[in-house]
Amino acid sequence: MGEGATDVGSASRAIFDAACAVIPGGVNSATRAVGAPWAFTRAEGARMWDADGREYLDYHAAFGAILLGHCDPRVDEPVRETIGRIDLTGYGVTELEVEYGRLVCESIASVDTSLATNTGTEATLQAVRLARAITGRRYVVKFQGNFHGWHDAVARNVISPPERAYKLDPLSAGILPDAFAATLIAEYNDVGSVQALFDEYPEQIAAVIFEAIPHNVGALLPTREFSDGLRELTRREGALLICDEVITGFRHGLGGYQAVLELEPDLTTFGKGIANGYPVAGIGGRRELMERFSSAGGDVVVAGTFNGHAVGMAAAVATMTHLRDHGDDFYPRVHALGARMREGLQRIADELGIAATAAGFGSVFCLYFMDGPIRGYRDLMRNDDAAYVAFHRRMTERGILMLPLSLKRNHVSDAHTEEDVDRTLEVAEEVLRELAE
Ligand code: PLP
Repeated sequence: MGEGATDVGSASRAIFDAACAVIPGGVNSATRAVGAPWAFTRAEGARMWDADGREYLDYHAAFGAILLGHCDPRVDEPVRETIGRIDLTGYGVTELEVEYGRLVCESIASVDTSLATNTGTEATLQAVRLARAITGRRYVVKFQGNFHGWHDAVARNVISPPERAYKLDPLSAGILPDAFAATLIAEYNDVGSVQALFDEYPEQIAAVIFEAIPHNVGALLPTREFSDGLRELTRREGALLICDEVITGFRHGLGGYQAVLELEPDLTTFGKGIANGYPVAGIGGRRELMERFSSAGGDVVVAGTFNGHAVGMAAAVATMTHLRDHGDDFYPRVHALGARMREGLQRIADELGIAATAAGFGSVFCLYFMDGPIRGYRDLMRNDDAAYVAFHRRMTERGILMLPLSLKRNHVSDAHTEEDVDRTLEVAEEVLRELAE
């Protein structure tokens, strides 16, 4: 497993070895291979247990998909009830899909109608394709370090080592060079870098896609100048603005982070937290744009055997209903826990004289191993990745689970308590003290 690998028990190891015989690398998503060859057997609330019975306090939260807590009865009970009644019909629509659509449209101000997909990758793929169809243009602009899934139109310049940043940096082999060349890269929080691309490719850019907060590199908060600037620029240039809220949507507020930014994008993609761990994502936007999809008689194909599956719809309806009805308690509570964690980590690092910056928003926190301020991707290249890997490994060994990748974020859920956060800070202090020695 290389540097930073955590020891796992014999039961985990045995299951992982068995997995390697039938699954390439033993995992179904490459990012799960990083950290340790674990096998988990149980998850509940803010905790997970591995096959050896070791308990972990979980801030990974399945890349942020867990918003209320693992196996939360507020979501799982309606799912169980649904399974006893209906699954997948392959015909027409279910009342659950209507309820889901209604909740999405009521929650996100810029969304008149929306389509359900299974993954965020499908949602951003459809957004980009729709933008190309509507504008008749070729290019898409994304930002260095932003991640929008693994399809060809956005699989460029995700997290890059310094020597590859801003160069041709494929996420994957096997992408046609032509697809690759149609994706242009700009600098987050720098509208000028986007303007320069519009100048270089006049009337050829179909869309600008951006993460509402690029949590895939921790937490670079967008400035208002940036988000307002993108809105104005794309409107002026006749391109669509696609706000990717796959992580931020529902987690940072019912209306997404775009509500905080007072931003009205043309299209929005969302996923993860919307269904508290069940596979649901979606794309939404203004009615006249969405009518180009073939489901409404348009010419942009939308299809998917499992789109709108009753299990996912029941989970999403239950999650969104809870957030709508109890958001006044939920959001301040998890935001306060997130702030407590960020302030605690920063205080500990400062007291120990470690060059580190705790960042985040709401329930999301991360620890960069470098001094601030951190405004753009270029600043992130100063991060001490090795220090993060050592920090992560030692936290894990003490039962605190965070994302194993440097420059990523962690998540508090509704199941976490102040005691959990304080315990985590105690452990972090112990670990950071060791690292400072
Ligand atoms: N967009 C963002 C901002 C993401 O973080 C991700 C996944 O992490 C995606 C899109 C892709 O979503 P999925 O993994 O569900 O395909």
